[in-house]
Parts: sequence; C-alpha cells; structure tokens
Amino acid sequence: MGVLNTILEHNRSFVENHEYEQFKTDKFPDKGLAVLACMDARLVELLPKAMGLKNGDAKLIKNAGALITHPWGSVMRSLIVAVYELRAEEICVVAHRDCGMRAIDPNKILAHATERGISEDTIDTLRNAGIDLDNWLKGFDNVSDSVRHSVQTIRNHPLMPKDIPVHGMVIHPSTGRLELIIDGYTGKAPVHA
Ligand SMILES: [Zn+2]
Repeated sequence: MGVLNTILEHNRSFVENHEYEQFKTDKFPDKGLAVLACMDARLVELLPKAMGLKNGDAKLIKNAGALITHPWGSVMRSLIVAVYELRAEEICVVAHRDCGMRAIDPNKILAHATERGISEDTIDTLRNAGIDLDNWLKGFDNVSDSVRHSVQTIRNHPLMPKDIPVHGMVIHPSTGRLELIIDGYTGKAPVHA
C-alpha cells in the first residue's frame, strides 16, 4: 500500500541509469514563458506536449482550476518572481474543459471533511474566526469567464509590468486542443473569420 516505495524504487534506477541527462537545462525558461495551469491529472504530460513545451521551456505553476484566488497569494507571487527574476516574458493561463473546479460545492467539501474526522466544532471555529470557507472553497461556473478573470487579475496587478502579454486559453483534456480566449498581444478575444 502507498506509492512512496514505488517512487523511491523507480528513482534509484532513474538516477543510476543517468535517465536525467535528457532533461538537463537551467532555471531560465528557453521560451520566456510562465504558464498557470490546472493540476488535473490528465494534463500531466498532455499539457506540455500539446503546447510544444519541453523541459526548460517554461515556468509551470499549477493549482486547482488554474485560478488566482488572491492578488497577494502564492500564484501571483510566483508569476511576479518569474517575470522579474527568471526571465519570463509572456504568461499563459490555461484552464480546461471538464474541470473539477467547475461548479464545485463548498458545502459538499466540508461535509466530506466531517466524514473524514474534521469536527463541526473546528469548522465553526474557523467560520467564527472570520474565515470565509464558502468563498475560499468555491470554484467557477464558466471556464472561459474564469480564464478572463485570471488574465485580468494578472494584467491589472500593480506589480506586473504593462508590457508582459498575458494570454488566456482553455485546453481539451482528451485531445489537447487549445482554444484561445484572450490574445495577450491585443488584450482581446481572437476574431474568428
Ligand atoms: Zn481542472
């Protein structure tokens, strides 16, 4: 039971066989790109392959839903660091169809938490301490709107330089097809012929 031993066993042979050599690169993204994407398991290999990215090409930031929940949270901080210290020159927000964060129900998550042994008291204490759990755990209703919102949050951030293009896309989790929502060069939705 547990995946840890499988990982460690694989790792021993990976290192012994010098399998890392094909991945050698440095910390600066060769394509000058920072990508914010969803943590969905279907995108582990599909996302970089579908975008033509190999090791060393981009800074990849992942979370549930490719969301920026707070302008001063860790995602925004990662993007700021990528731009100023790690030579990221363009940003892509890539959400996806069939995302687990669409229409997610905070009450259901909290019900699952109580089933797993988190007491009602703990949840009440958090609420009484002013933590807005419902807002914190909520996802989005519409993936395109969510991407637009994340792009706007990045573009309008007071510490983000105005000359950084911020693109917004939605990827299909089976085919890898990318749908452009915001073209960061113009700041607008693409015009379809
Ligand atoms: Zn997702």
